[in-house]
Amino acid sequence: MNESALNSALQAIVGEEHVLYSAADLAAYAYDATPLYRSVPTVVVFPGCTAEVRAVLELATARQVPVIPRGHATNLSGGTIAINGGIMLVMTRLNRIMEIDAANLTATLQPGVTTAALAKEADARGLFYPPDPGSQVVSTLGGNVAENAGGLRGLKYGVTRDYVMGLEAVLPSGEIIRTGGKNAKDVAGYDLTRLLVGSEGTLAVITEITVKLIPKPETKRACLAIFDDLQQAARTVARIIENRIIPCTLEYMDQGTIQAVEEFAHVGLPTDCEALLFIEQDGPAAVVDADIELAGEICREEGARELKVAATPEEGTKLAEARRFALSALARLRPTTVLEDATVPRSHLAEMVRFINEVAVKYNLRICTFGHAGDGNLHPTCLTDERDHEEIERVEQAFAEIFDKAIALGGTITGEHGVGLGKQNYLEWKVGHAGIEVMRRLKAAFDPANILNPGKVLPTATRKRLVVKQG
Ligand SMILES: Cc1cc2nc3c(=O)[nH]c(=O)nc-3n(C[C@H](O)[C@H](O)[C@H](O)COP(=O)(O)OP(=O)(O)OC[C@H]3O[C@@H](n4cnc5c(N)ncnc54)[C@H](O)[C@@H]3O)c2cc1C
Repeated sequence: MNESALNSALQAIVGEEHVLYSAADLAAYAYDATPLYRSVPTVVVFPGCTAEVRAVLELATARQVPVIPRGHATNLSGGTIAINGGIMLVMTRLNRIMEIDAANLTATLQPGVTTAALAKEADARGLFYPPDPGSQVVSTLGGNVAENAGGLRGLKYGVTRDYVMGLEAVLPSGEIIRTGGKNAKDVAGYDLTRLLVGSEGTLAVITEITVKLIPKPETKRACLAIFDDLQQAARTVARIIENRIIPCTLEYMDQGTIQAVEEFAHVGLPTDCEALLFIEQDGPAAVVDADIELAGEICREEGARELKVAATPEEGTKLAEARRFALSALARLRPTTVLEDATVPRSHLAEMVRFINEVAVKYNLRICTFGHAGDGNLHPTCLTDERDHEEIERVEQAFAEIFDKAIALGGTITGEHGVGLGKQNYLEWKVGHAGIEVMRRLKAAFDPANILNPGKVLPTATRKRLVVKQG
């Protein structure tokens, strides 16, 4: 099918105004939040309902055209790059919250709703949707489900997977499946809901989502612990949890990140310290007070030079926002920011932090690290320049060592950002050869013609981790 026939067929499905194909428009959809990858799609389509998604997929399967589902493209694994062209299926017109069910404590919504919009709607009814990726103001629930997004509250509340109860999804054939639902218990057959969560747009297009909500915590309190030794900060994380405190947020920032955030947001962070921990607890007031007090004592015992307890929940929220600025603040420092999410059991956090710093020295790179320390989920972030190919080669080698170390410590190559394009060739390190083969068979069962987000997640023999492909 030539391009003009494809565009006309798509216009007939979604309406002329919802199809883009000018060179300028296509260029705007050639990239996502992941550095180093760019490739223009053939056409961009904005469906307005499930029936339109179905018709687009039927057309694409019949014509063997790749389809790349897309929310707001904030993913950090190249998940929405149209590596072989194809139809960019942007789900943002599907942005209605259809129902908040107070009796069953669920919300049912379309995939283009942003994470923050759902959280706000729940909050207005005294309810709580905990998953809160740093991108929550922009990221969509469809993207969150497809990436199994985590966030700052993962330690206590879990990740997106723990809240998704049911899905409507369209298969590449155009068939519509419904998985799960509002039942607290449901063991009918294989758990297709869990399979689709984290499937990175490679198995089906998600068109409706039912999530669990929980009662809103009564109160919350936060504090900052400031350390002159980053090893002390990393050790403190494991000790807090050993002491049976599960904070809702336990975040780590190293000196490079603190300096960048302070320069960007001017929130009063001490720029001369080596590391800080942001600790937040929520729940009944007495429990929150006791936990923050004990966590503070542990920080002091481990050598914190200062403890700043937020006087009000609002002050605590401001400190949490400072942490959310980390990536944006670091991204201002050099032309290219390569952020990773190697993850280890938290008991190995101190060792992993030390290793990342050694690797940075070995490869003469600037790597700043921050992350969800309570989850062992670190974001070593390399500040580099994609035009310097020799340096990018060193970045590649440095991250290969970091992933290798994470696996050796019983960790994983990605805690929340997904495999996408960047980490396919490391996936076997984590899941083994047999694991890859099972995944290939699952992909073939859902998408025998391989039209849905092809070239993502599963390894390719030839592709290196970092490829600059100009579109
Ligand atoms: C500043 C910043 C902070 C971030 N912080 C976090 C964080 O704390 N935790 C975290 O986990 N991530 C974080 N991220 C990564 C990112 O925001 C998440 O992966 C998010 O879930 C992506 O949502 P999106 O709407 O942008 O999806 P997109 O980037 O558009 O898509 C992501 C993937 O989902 C697929 N997809 C999208 N919609 C659908 C659908 N309806 N059906 C099927 N597949 C679909 C796409 O094909 C792609 O593979 C951050 C990113 C940035 C830029």
